[in-house]
Amino acid sequence: MKNGVLFQYFEWNLPADSQLWNQLARDASHLAEIGVSAVWIPPAYKGSGIEDVGYAVYDLYDFGEFDQKGTVPTKYGTRAELENAIRALHDNGIEVILDTVLNHRMNGDAPERFMAQPVDSGDRLKDIGEPREIEAFTDFEFKGRGDKYSPFKWHWQHFAGVDYDNLTGDKCIFRIIGPGKGWSQGVDKENGNYDYLMGNDVDVNNPEVADELLNWGRWTLDSFGFDGFRMDAVKHIDNPFTKRFLEEMRGHTGRDLYYVSEYWSKDPEALGGFIEATGGVTDLFDVPLHFNFFDAAQQGDKYDMRHLLDGSLAQSDATHAVTFVDNHDSQPGGGLASNVDDWFKPLAYGLILLMREGYPVIFYGDYYSVSRKAHDGDADDKVETDNAGDELVRDASPHRRIIDLLLEVRRRFAFGDQTLVFDHPNTVALVRHGDAEHPGSGLVLLLANGDAGTKHICLGKEHAGETWREFTGSIHDTLTLDADGCADFRVDGRNLAVWVPADA
Ligand code: CA
Repeated sequence: MKNGVLFQYFEWNLPADSQLWNQLARDASHLAEIGVSAVWIPPAYKGSGIEDVGYAVYDLYDFGEFDQKGTVPTKYGTRAELENAIRALHDNGIEVILDTVLNHRMNGDAPERFMAQPVDSGDRLKDIGEPREIEAFTDFEFKGRGDKYSPFKWHWQHFAGVDYDNLTGDKCIFRIIGPGKGWSQGVDKENGNYDYLMGNDVDVNNPEVADELLNWGRWTLDSFGFDGFRMDAVKHIDNPFTKRFLEEMRGHTGRDLYYVSEYWSKDPEALGGFIEATGGVTDLFDVPLHFNFFDAAQQGDKYDMRHLLDGSLAQSDATHAVTFVDNHDSQPGGGLASNVDDWFKPLAYGLILLMREGYPVIFYGDYYSVSRKAHDGDADDKVETDNAGDELVRDASPHRRIIDLLLEVRRRFAFGDQTLVFDHPNTVALVRHGDAEHPGSGLVLLLANGDAGTKHICLGKEHAGETWREFTGSIHDTLTLDADGCADFRVDGRNLAVWVPADA
C-alpha cells in the first residue's frame, strides 16, 4: 500500500461509555483526509464487562449483541454501532483491522476440576512437586448467547494451563494434564516455554479448539467484512497454528487480507525466527525500534543517534515492519509501560512517517489524547471518572499538530529513493530524493537530540539554485541550494526539521 498509514483507534484508559464506534464513524472522513489507509480497532468482543479494554476475552462471538457479563454493549458500543462504523470507514476507502485475541480466555462461568502439574514460573518446563487435582473457572457456557453463531462450549480440556487453584487459593502456573496435552513447542523461549501468558491458556493443538477458532475467523470475516487482523500475543501461540489460521482466512475470503502481529520482543532474532516459522504470512510490529525511541528519549543528548535504527525490523526486514512510537501497552501505566517521552515523540513520528521503510502506525493516545490516573496539581485538567471510581485526567494531545504536518509531508513529499546521513551522535538526517510521479517531491529530515546543528547535504546538480523551506515552522528562513545542489540544512536543538522544496 503506497504510503499507507495505520491508525490505532484506542488507548487503554478510554471512558467506558460505549461511544467509540459512534465516534469512529463520525471521524471516518477526517481520517481519510489525513491519509489513514487502515484503522486498527480494539478487541471488539465481550470480556469481563463494560470496563474491559477487550483483552480479557470471554466470548469472541459477542460484539456487543448479547446480555452477558452484565452488559449488552462492550466498552466501545453495540454490534450495530460497530457495523455502522465499519460501513463509514469502508465508504471512505479505509480498511478495518480487528484486534484478535486467540491466546487466552478469562471470566469463565463456572469452576471445573481437573488434574494439573504446577510448574516453575521462571522455567515452565520444570515441574514443581506432584500433579494434583485443582479447580478453575474453565467452564464457558455463554448462556446469554446460547448456540447462536456457534454451539461450542469451552471446558478444561480446551485449555493448556491456568494460574490459579480455586480449591486452595494457590497462585502458580499449572500445566493441565490430559491425553495429548502439554505446552506448545512453537512459542517464545523466554521462561523456558512462553506458551502461558494469562488466564485460561487456549490449547490450539486440541483439534476441537482449532476447528472452533477457524470457524470463528470465517464467521467474523463473513459477518463484518474486516480487512485483516492484528494478532495479539503471537509469541505465546504455537507458530504453526498462527500460520494456518492466517492462511486459511485468506483462502476462505479469497482476499489479500492484511495481517500484523504483536510479538513483544526487542530481539531481532526472535522476530526473524517468527517470520520464518510463519512463512512471512504476517507483518510484525517493530518493537526494537520502539525501544530505541524509548532509550533515546530517556538518555537525551547522551544517546548516540547514529544507532537509532540498529536492530530494528525496519532495517532487517522492512517489508514486514510495522513501525510505531507507542501503543495501549506502552502508554503510561500500561501493561508494558515504556512510554516514549513527549520531547522525543515529534522526532520519532518524523522518522516513521517520512522514511521509506515500514508501515507506520499513529497511536490514538498521541493524536487525540491519553488518559492517565489523576495526580496532584492537575486542577486545570479536564477530569472524568471511570466506572471504577478512579479519577482520570484527559489532556488534549500536544502532538496532533506535528503529526498532521508530518502526514501532509508524507502525502506530498515523502517519495523516491532514500539516503541516511547518520554520521553524528547528536544530529542525523534522512533524505528522500523524490520521484518523477510526484513533481517537486523530496525532503530532508533532520533529527537533533542535543544542540541546534546543521548538516551539509548535497541533493545533486539537478537541484541547483532551488529554494527550500522548513515545513513544521521551527525555522523561518529559507535556504538556497548552491550550484552543486548542496546546502547547510539547519535544525533546532532537541527538535526535528523537515525541509522541502519551497515552490512545491
Ligand atoms: Ca498460549
